[in-house]
Amino acid sequence: MKPAGTIKIAILGGGIAGVAAAYELAKMQRAGLPVEATLYEAGPRLGGIVETHREAGFVIECGPDSWVTEKTWARELAVELGLEDEIIPSNDHWRRTYVLQGNQLVPMPDGMRMMVPADWAALLNSPLFSTQAKLAYLREPRRAEELKAAALPPDQDESVRDFVQRHFGDEVALKLAAPLLAGVFGGDIAHLSARSVMPAFLEMERERGSLVQAVQQRARTAAGRAAVFTSLKSGLGTLIERMAATLPADWVRLQTPVLSMDPVEQATAHTGVRWSVRTQKHTVTFDAVVVATPAPVACELLRPLDARLSELLQMDASSAIIVAMAFTPQQAANLRLPRGFGFLVPQQQESAPHNALLAATFVDQKFSHRVPEGGVLLRAFFGGATAPQLLQESDAALIALARKELGKVLGKLPEAHITLVRRWPNSLPQYGVGHLDRIAELESRAQAFAGLRLIGNAYHGVGLPDLIREGRAAARSLAPA
Ligand SMILES: Cc1cc2nc3c(=O)[nH]c(=O)nc-3n(C[C@H](O)[C@H](O)[C@H](O)COP(=O)(O)OP(=O)(O)OC[C@H]3O[C@@H](n4cnc5c(N)ncnc54)[C@H](O)[C@@H]3O)c2cc1C
Repeated sequence: MKPAGTIKIAILGGGIAGVAAAYELAKMQRAGLPVEATLYEAGPRLGGIVETHREAGFVIECGPDSWVTEKTWARELAVELGLEDEIIPSNDHWRRTYVLQGNQLVPMPDGMRMMVPADWAALLNSPLFSTQAKLAYLREPRRAEELKAAALPPDQDESVRDFVQRHFGDEVALKLAAPLLAGVFGGDIAHLSARSVMPAFLEMERERGSLVQAVQQRARTAAGRAAVFTSLKSGLGTLIERMAATLPADWVRLQTPVLSMDPVEQATAHTGVRWSVRTQKHTVTFDAVVVATPAPVACELLRPLDARLSELLQMDASSAIIVAMAFTPQQAANLRLPRGFGFLVPQQQESAPHNALLAATFVDQKFSHRVPEGGVLLRAFFGGATAPQLLQESDAALIALARKELGKVLGKLPEAHITLVRRWPNSLPQYGVGHLDRIAELESRAQAFAGLRLIGNAYHGVGLPDLIREGRAAARSLAPA
């Protein structure tokens, strides 16, 4: 029995957003606040897309492998969880990413911040771009005033392709921006919202006109020199495990998908509305509901409440398939990989019109603590338009495909000690042009339902730091006054 006056909160979905919300509520409870929560997770474990497989000295990320250092919320959480000694930067002294052209790996120039160069010499010496593209880069700072005047006001949106093209032309947009963003969103830059996925660049444009000038100035500061990605020695799964360990045991319901949630017309002192949450076996009443499921599930749950709310949340989502291959030192003895973090595969190139390989990571070079000394860990990331077909393939077929595609570039691969396949269907919501306006309307409509909070990767960012921030903020917003 809950003590009288306790606020009861249901959290639907145990991905990082939902677990962060539960973690914050447990912290509030330990601080003496009258709150309690039930975390419903459809699957057999917490973490959702965050999953770390540890075996034989290998630390294999099945989903995200790091967070963007600049966004501080993940680091803050890690420190709070006592994981300060576990935090590791990406090995930026080896930060080189290649772009596949034909079957050749062409390095991205050093010092790029996405598609913006901080180092002129590296850019001009790079074989990646044509003379025309290099001239477009060189002209960009001189066009600062014109570009500033062309910048859209903060409340207007355009596609990533239009934005990048305005600064550097279409070659840079297709050759670099497209595969870089495909590696994050699996999407098409002609549809992705610049305002949602690259707000920092838009702000630079509004302030200075030239992105090159802004990035070069920033590169001279300490923040500009910090490692781009951060992770944990034992893998990102540790964040989930540590948060989960702080939750009261009776808060977590695994393998319990929520089938429906309905507001019950019954006022309480705290929230005004109560919520009836139905699973296969039980129906339980709560004072508030935090919906942290993937967007397609949230759409279904919200439809009976408000069809427009559900419609606003309908968005394309792309699928991802990860194939990881871990080689022992003996197996890797004859494997010669280029120095760097991995490579991107532009989808436009003629040689790869049906190639679903979007990127490959040389994991042991990107981060320390991922392999036993001398071991090698490779990760292939498949996605894009052909992903729906690939999702139907067997593990064996996907492993064979990964070996073939990586083998074309890196030479024949030895047998791997561990191979692992993960399918993440419809896991990456596509923030199309106008996304933030739709989300603003959605959030304003959702306010009509007291005690309802919507969090997860469909709203304000797909990266882990954003989701941690969102989950914790949602929990705090439900704190008793
Ligand atoms: C391959 C890949 C690589 C990525 N790499 C990075 C990276 O390096 N860095 C980064 O910051 N981000 C990365 N991302 C993005 C990031 O991992 C995700 O955006 C994030 O993990 C999503 O978290 P979430 O809590 O919103 O959703 P999810 O992790 O999808 O969790 C939602 C949970 O809800 C559960 N659920 C579904 N239906 C129900 C129901 N009816 N009732 C109860 N529970 C339900 C699901 O089982 C799931 O556990 C990557 C994503 C992918 C797919």
